[in-house]
Amino acid sequence: MSAPSLNKTINFPENMRSAHELILMAKNGKKGNHAGQSYALPAFNVTTYDGVQAACEAFETLGSSGVLAFSNSALKHFGHGDAILGLETIHEIVKFRAKKSSVQIATHLDHGDNIGEHGRKVIRGAIEMFTSVMADNSTDHANKCATSLKVNMDATREVVELAHPKGVSVEGELGVLAGVEDEDTHSEISTYTDPIELKDFLTNTGVLLLAPTIGTMHGPNKGKPGDKVKLNIELAHECLKIANEINNEIIFVAHGASTLYPQVVEYAIKNLNTLGLNNDLETWKNFVGTDWDQIKGLIGAGFCKINTDTENRQTYLSALIGAIAQTSSKVDIRYYEKTTYKALVDSYIQKLIMAGNYGVWHEPKINVSEFKFNLNV
Ligand SMILES: [Zn+2]
Repeated sequence: MSAPSLNKTINFPENMRSAHELILMAKNGKKGNHAGQSYALPAFNVTTYDGVQAACEAFETLGSSGVLAFSNSALKHFGHGDAILGLETIHEIVKFRAKKSSVQIATHLDHGDNIGEHGRKVIRGAIEMFTSVMADNSTDHANKCATSLKVNMDATREVVELAHPKGVSVEGELGVLAGVEDEDTHSEISTYTDPIELKDFLTNTGVLLLAPTIGTMHGPNKGKPGDKVKLNIELAHECLKIANEINNEIIFVAHGASTLYPQVVEYAIKNLNTLGLNNDLETWKNFVGTDWDQIKGLIGAGFCKINTDTENRQTYLSALIGAIAQTSSKVDIRYYEKTTYKALVDSYIQKLIMAGNYGVWHEPKINVSEFKFNLNV
């Protein structure tokens, strides 16, 4: 029996949609009443309340479709150790923020799983409260090993059966991605997605969002300086052909696709020098992102959800270092928070422009072609 299809008649809270609905518009190039070139939705991994507000302000500024992604460990952080409390809190905050919004927003559980007891509890909570979930069953994180295709398919299909009737889209993962994302997601090894397994996986699970592994890496060190990771764009196109034959509403997701803003790194290094903090200079110099040109190649291969995290974390930290280098004696949290908040908004705006995700729900409130992302102001 085939897996249940995504129920598209569900009404989410005001101005909220399933991630799949927003990303499908991007795949089809739909902005307002126009259909043009495909674009992508950077899914912003947010870990603080300021991050939620900053991302929403960026969506508002540009009239973008918004995906806010929360990992298990982010939810634990919001809930002070209790992921379910974090989930409930985020659910209420985003619902309130979306109501006052002029764009459409999705909430997505990043790297949920249906394998461990904790994962199963969180993913079920997210199906009740979010508009999209990732069921990453490609890895058994507790035992640190890849799962078999059968285990991955069965566990993912079970999530689809719970989520699709409620209108909640499901993202699966096939293959193992190398790198460190957070305490839940780290792997030394990476395996490419096998196109034959891909066909089986998509047919059996019914997922409409899938993260194949084609060479991206989690974390701030994607390869070495001068020796960046190369993405297998050819494999991406092969996967797209297979997916489109099954259902042309299937969309791919790029994990570990953070690029790096050179100006953010330069700004951090300049201010670390001012502060005389030499210990971390090498770490900053060794950060390596994926080239945006490669990511652009992926958008053409149906990767319309681009997970975006590391560069925003780096932006926040770089702005904070700069604010402290200017004055470290302001006894006012707001002074430092104002700087990091503005930097985060600009970092998000920059990525939305790069991905072509603007002018979807209304005309941008800034001149997109003149926007310059620079912490040095
Ligand atoms: Zn990921």
